[in-house]
Parts: sequence; C-alpha cells; structure tokens
Amino acid sequence: MKVFKFGGASVKNAAAIINVATIVRQHQANQLLIVVSAMGKTTNALERVISLAQAQQSFDAPLQEIKDYHHQVIEQLGIQTPAFLARISTQVENLTAAATSTGAYDFVYDQVVAQGELLSSLILSEFLIRQGISATWIDARHYIQTDSSWREGNVNWEQTRSKVQGLKKILQSQLIVTQGFIGATPEGQTTTLGREGSDYSAAIFAATLHAESVTIWKDVPGVMSADPKRLPDAVVFDELPYQEAAEMTYYGASVIHPKTIKPLANANIPLLVKNFDDPSLPGTRIHLCRLDKLPPLIVFKDNQCLISCKVTDYSFVNEQQMGTIFNILTQHNVRINVMQNSAISFSFCVDYREPKTLHLIEALSKNFEVYYNTGLTLITVKNYDSTTFNTYRNKPGVLLEQSSRSTLQVLVRL
Ligand code: ASP
Ligand code: MG
Repeated sequence: MKVFKFGGASVKNAAAIINVATIVRQHQANQLLIVVSAMGKTTNALERVISLAQAQQSFDAPLQEIKDYHHQVIEQLGIQTPAFLARISTQVENLTAAATSTGAYDFVYDQVVAQGELLSSLILSEFLIRQGISATWIDARHYIQTDSSWREGNVNWEQTRSKVQGLKKILQSQLIVTQGFIGATPEGQTTTLGREGSDYSAAIFAATLHAESVTIWKDVPGVMSADPKRLPDAVVFDELPYQEAAEMTYYGASVIHPKTIKPLANANIPLLVKNFDDPSLPGTRIHLCRLDKLPPLIVFKDNQCLISCKVTDYSFVNEQQMGTIFNILTQHNVRINVMQNSAISFSFCVDYREPKTLHLIEALSKNFEVYYNTGLTLITVKNYDSTTFNTYRNKPGVLLEQSSRSTLQVLVRL
C-alpha cells in the first residue's frame, strides 16, 4: 500500500480538491491511505478563534469566516446534501464547544485546531465517494496514540502500530481518507503533533503499516536546493539520501516536517515529493542512496535571535558557566541553532518566539550580562563550493559566521 499526503495548499479550494481527486483516480489501482491537512489557512484562523476565546472575547468573526469558507467549497463541489451538511454542522458545533471549554491553553488549542483537519478530510472523502471512488473516512484519533504533551504529542509507537493493523482489511477494498496532524491520548483526548505535522502523520501511518512509499504532494516541483521564492535559480533534486533530507529540515528547510524522515528511514520506506499541479514531473525521491556530489543547498531561517551572555566580573567563560547556560536552555525547552564562544562571552542563536525567548533572556540575566538582537536570518549553506562560500561569507550585515568542511552558517541582518 502507499500513503499520499495532501497539504493545506492542495485542498485550498474546490478546484484544488477536484485536482486531488484526479490524482487519486490515477493511482486507484494501489491500496491507498490519504492523509490530508486543513484547507488553506484554516489552522491560522482556528488559532485566532482560540486566542479570542481564551481572552473571553467574541470569536464570531473568525468562526464565521471558517464556516463560510468550508460551505462555499462544499457548494462548489456540489456535495451539499442535507445529510452531509448536518455532518459538517455537528463538526462546527464541536469546534464551538471546544473553544469555550475550560482548561489550559495548550489543551484547548488541540481540541480546537484539530477541527480543521476533521473538516477537510470529511469534505475530501465525501467528494471522492460522489465521484464514484470507493473511499472510507477514518478518524486518525482512533489510530495515532500519543501522550498528553499538548501541541507536541509524542507518539506511542507500540499502541499506534497495533491499532493501525485494523486498517489493512479496509485497504483491501477501499481507499482511506484520514487527517494529518492529530492523534489522541489513551483517554481519548485530542492531541496535535506540532504545526505542519501532517507530513509526520503520513510517516507514522506508513511506518506502522509497512507502506511501499509515501508521497507528499506539494506546490513545488520537488525538494529544491533553495527556496525558489528567494533564489530563482534553485534546482530540483532527483534523489536525496535520508540523512541529507533530515539535515536540511534541521537547518530550517520547510519543505518537509523535521520529524518525518526518521520513521521512514528506519523502515527503509522511500519518501517522494511531487508536484500536485503537474504530477508528470518526476519530483524528488528521498531514499537509501549514495550521491558522490551534491550541489550546494541553501536554507534561510528567518526570525532568529542572537543572545550573548557575558560574565559580569571580567573573568572568562568556563565550563561551569556554560553548564548553567545549557541548563537554563533545557528548562525553557529552547533549541540552539548555532553557537560560538569567546574569552568573555558565549553567544548562540535561537528561533525568536514571544514570550518564550524573553523569559529565557530574563532567566539568563540572573547569572550573566545578556545582550540580544532580533530580526536576524540564519543562512546555512550545505555542501558549499567556492562561489557560494564567498557569496554568503561576504554578505553585508554578518553578525556571526561559522564553517566546517561541508557547511557554512552565517547569521545576518538582511
Ligand atoms: N494544519 C496544520 C498546520 O497548518 C498541520 C499541517 O498543515 O501539516 O500546521
Ligand atoms: Mg500545511
């Protein structure tokens, strides 16, 4: 069997969903499990609902926007039967109830945002069925089991593996449509796997069902050597080793969710990245392979914050003080993207997130003299050659620079 993942952009309107159905029909001969994200920017709209609800303010406006958007697509697809509309209404009622429920912010967040994927998957599956494609909708929360780390659920692989086995029988006669991004605790409470986590869901289903391959359908022709919006001469890779793809995501390439590669690499399942606008393009195959020479790969990570900790009494930064810094970072659950030390200071760069980063700086300030800069971009050039090395090294506005034999990183104010 194969797993297909369709992201938000691939189901953003009726025309896009019709295109998905065309792709699915072409692959109907395979056993297929389809993982779908929320339509377009629905997750962001749901986040606005949550913020307003938690601030005890009216969330009517974003809720209405979400309802209108989905209803419009339903009508354009011609699937507005009373029974289906009733099903959608129930889902919207669940959404409203979740938004007004009491509980910690992160818990409420998961109960609400999950509705985006539930709605999109219901619409896609209804449309496929109306097109004469034999499909079954399943609720991913009955299969993907996580702990109760809200917004970042950790998968219980053993439980998940045993639950998904029940899907094999369905797959023999029908294709399955399910949600990305969501799971549930053993008590049945909804969890999510982190923003953009639908790719990871596809990998979880594939690894536990021993899929032949996973295909992520995207608006780009494949995995590219840089973001083509930033560097128009970026090239598409035909193939990439798992390790290379995993490292790209680590440095901030957003083409695939960072957690996706590991379960697939462990199970030796190829990951294909294909273009939904032109499925005839070959796309990129991420799999077990050895490439002699890879072209330079450039990743831009925006919204970086450079933090420098200075020892206040003019002594040198020693290991104990570094230990203090790392402990504070661990307590605040913050990941370092690049770091550097000098005699009297230790500097590192992290993703800037309010209020998290400010709390971190406050805690560090109890032990050190702390300076920080925000609004920076971390540029990573993997497999650099002399041209890329010189271009990025000599960029104006470099605050920090580091290179190894294969990788150059510069932190700049663009
Ligand atoms: N809908 C979720 C998000 O926007 C998950 C995903 O798209 O992968 O983050
Ligand atoms: Mg998405």
